[in-house]
Amino acid sequence: MDQTSIDALRALPVSPRGHFIDGQSVPAIEGGMRDVISPIDGQVLTQIAEGSPADMERAITSARAAFEDGRWSRMAPAARKKVLLKLADLIEAQALELAVLGVRDNGTEINMAIKAESMSAAATFRYYGEAIDKVYGQIAPTAENVLGLVHHAPVGVVGAIVPWNFPLMIGSWKIAPALAAGNSIVLKPAESASLSLLRIAELASEAGVPDGVFNVVTGKGSVVGETLALSMDVDIMVFTGSGATGRRLLEYSARSNLKRCYLELGGKSPNIIFNDAPDLAHAAQVSAGGIFRNSGQVCVAGSRLLVQEDIHDDFVAEICKHAEAFRVGNPLDLNSQIGAVHSLDELEANLDFVTKAEAEGASRLSGGNRILSKTGGYYMQPTVMGGVKPTDTLAQQEVFGPVLAVTPFKDEAEAIQIANSTVYGLSAGVWTSNLGRAHRMVAGIRSGIIHVNTYGGSDLTVPLGGVGQSGNGHDKSLHAMDKYFDLKTAWIQL
Ligand code: NAD
Repeated sequence: MDQTSIDALRALPVSPRGHFIDGQSVPAIEGGMRDVISPIDGQVLTQIAEGSPADMERAITSARAAFEDGRWSRMAPAARKKVLLKLADLIEAQALELAVLGVRDNGTEINMAIKAESMSAAATFRYYGEAIDKVYGQIAPTAENVLGLVHHAPVGVVGAIVPWNFPLMIGSWKIAPALAAGNSIVLKPAESASLSLLRIAELASEAGVPDGVFNVVTGKGSVVGETLALSMDVDIMVFTGSGATGRRLLEYSARSNLKRCYLELGGKSPNIIFNDAPDLAHAAQVSAGGIFRNSGQVCVAGSRLLVQEDIHDDFVAEICKHAEAFRVGNPLDLNSQIGAVHSLDELEANLDFVTKAEAEGASRLSGGNRILSKTGGYYMQPTVMGGVKPTDTLAQQEVFGPVLAVTPFKDEAEAIQIANSTVYGLSAGVWTSNLGRAHRMVAGIRSGIIHVNTYGGSDLTVPLGGVGQSGNGHDKSLHAMDKYFDLKTAWIQL
């Protein structure tokens, strides 16, 4: 990847896109088009279809027909695997094109987009493609003269709704295992980050996913998302996004066919620094990256920094130094370490959190302002707020922006108590040289993932999901496949 190739791609116009239904791009039936605003400069990048309930019904009908006639659902797993591996290769071959398209849409820094979006999506299709012909059913230890077979049957039509922060990565965490298991899928990307996922649907078709098996409908969550989640013909919903929308999906399920809803929601993740951390300078550097990368728009961002009292001042000074050293700017410049805030609304909401934190008694230790760029895009200083009380708004509510809340603690017991004092439980970090303490913290903190002496690392081999109001489902790893199968028992009298 070099700046010249990126510059060539970012100069290309982006043509308007329709939905992707039944193997082809189709215009909206009645909704028209909506503008796509790039956070890089606040200008209209292109247009996408503004979906209506009729568009969504059309996609669901297409997915159902494809599932029922078995064109994919009854294809041999080894044949589905071949298609998914081909799709992974196509994504990898176009990694830069996809990443640049996505960055123009959502503002993530290009270095991260290549790795966490394009390459991660390719790896995910490869992982679940490789896995699918290793899934066996079971023979139960039944009484004599009967045979109990436990089959893994695809669930049918999967509805998927994803957010804007990492559309390709999070989208493929759902699309890949759903397709591998033989399901059909209807995907509703975020209004403001649909372009790269529409392209993935085209590539899937090119790789050999039959028409109707993978459909994408764009538009408003409250219109097409709601229609999808209320449908009697959708068998499960898989969702990543905010708790507020997650709640709605559960309501839609209750009002329709009781479909299972797997929710991956927000977080307010504690990153806890003990005075016996093996390398405090390294801890400060990684912790700063763990909140500020992608402008803090990362579900597992370590947004609450809990620092033991006796090292608090020095450690926080070090964090502020890192915050101030980050180069924030055009996400398509390789020189930028942090890109854009996704939208003007998000930027204003971030700034409101800072103002409110000050009103509640916190002090601004670094940043806190919008960065005015020549292009007119949406950029914000990495921000460190000190003296945040565990009950303050900034310690309780997810910002989803580059704002760090710092709180001191006395000892292990207090650290655990503060860590567990929110409704969330997505991610956590613990820095200590004491092995016993590390294990006690892992056991004591309510969270889906706990990093020890690092923050934010992960790969496809381990599940990602939260507890409490951070959600109830898991993406990634072989465990993620379970939700895309129904268990079916065949009880056979011999
Ligand atoms: P959001 O809930 O506003 O939107 C997510 C998706 O839901 C979008 O596609 C949106 O169009 C759709 N939607 C909105 N209203 C809907 C409705 N009434 N019915 C159906 N669909 C609807 O969230 P967002 O702002 O896009 O994303 C940010 C949130 O996502 C943060 O809370 C973040 O922590 C969370 N997130 C979680 C994870 C995780 O793995 N746990 C990963 C990334 C982001």
